[in-house]
Amino acid sequence: MERAQPYMDKTFGNRNTAFAFWGLMYKIAVVAGATHVMFMGLFYGLGAHTLAWINLGSVLLFAASYLCLKKRLNLLAVSLIVFEILAHAILAVRAIGWDSGFHYYLLVVVPVVVISQMKIKAFKPVLITSMLLLYIGLDHAMRDLTPLDVISAQTLSGLRYFNIAVTFLLLTYLSGIYLKLVTKAERELRILATTDPLTQLLNRRSLLEIAEYELVQRKRHQAPLAFVLADIDHFKSINDQHGHAAGDKVLKAVSQTLRQALREQDSVARWGGEEFLFLMPDATLDLAKSVAERLRQQVEAIEVPFNGKQIKVSMTFGVSTHQNDEVVDAPINRADTALYQGKVAGRNQVVASAA
Ligand code: GH3
Ligand code: MG
Ligand code: MG
Repeated sequence: MERAQPYMDKTFGNRNTAFAFWGLMYKIAVVAGATHVMFMGLFYGLGAHTLAWINLGSVLLFAASYLCLKKRLNLLAVSLIVFEILAHAILAVRAIGWDSGFHYYLLVVVPVVVISQMKIKAFKPVLITSMLLLYIGLDHAMRDLTPLDVISAQTLSGLRYFNIAVTFLLLTYLSGIYLKLVTKAERELRILATTDPLTQLLNRRSLLEIAEYELVQRKRHQAPLAFVLADIDHFKSINDQHGHAAGDKVLKAVSQTLRQALREQDSVARWGGEEFLFLMPDATLDLAKSVAERLRQQVEAIEVPFNGKQIKVSMTFGVSTHQNDEVVDAPINRADTALYQGKVAGRNQVVASAA
């Protein structure tokens, strides 16, 4: 059974995003805090004393947001970080001039707002529009103002190029994080969609997909293709005797044995409750039969420890091969018929279909 996750978000896509977002906020608080300590010294040295004091304020704000994150006051922490970026940009361009390029940092807030976890969705466009108006307003109001601290034109240019470079870097980093997040979610979804959660074997649908692909390959190369359907004997009585949890443990142990015994090109899926289907490209009926016999012996040797007892199992196998142009259901049905014959004949055996 899937356990409830300790997050508010219902889908795991959101959960991943939430995790990455708060992790990102931690990093921002630490890295930006440290960077501003350096800036404080640098600007003091350059004679931009107002800006040095502004940086002290920034350091305190980042320290406060770090503490808020630790205390799980997440919303307050993000508000402090966003406030710092806005206030720092405004005050810095006011202190040493529009040409210092500190307003570029406002652009970095846009992706942060977009990937943030806001309960009220409409808040995002409102916030981004406000940022746009602020940016244009600042440009209009501050472009021609005389700075409070006067630093050399060369230093100012250097600072602007530095700020442009850091803005590019931050945007690249943020996009990279987002890409990583999407790739991870995609991978998790693919695993969920193709595997059986209990046994980690392929599920029925993905094995059928592989089978369809193999049928096309077989047509092209005239190679044989074998199917083996296997079913645990008297599985119901294992459940009845030892309980469902014991049954699950047996299913896992059997699945592990089946997977380990196969060649790399073979596929095995959990076909139903305690039923498994193997697909063996390039295997003739005889080869598939001997593989199934080996599997039968390995399953027979399994002992599953449960509550101080050793549970033993056996399996019956039905083997068939694909013929001519028939659809994929045909050899599977023949394997099923062979399996049924094996059950009737006393179980724990391999029965091959005529084809
Ligand atoms: P046979 O030898 O004829 O195959 O007998 P059987 O008891 O194995 O077959 P039957 O179809 O009567 O019972 C299969 C049982 O498998 C019934 C079902 O409750 C159990 N089962 C199916 N899926 C699971 C599962 O995921 N976990 C557990 N523990 N039991 C399962
Ligand atoms: Mg069974
Ligand atoms: Mg069954």
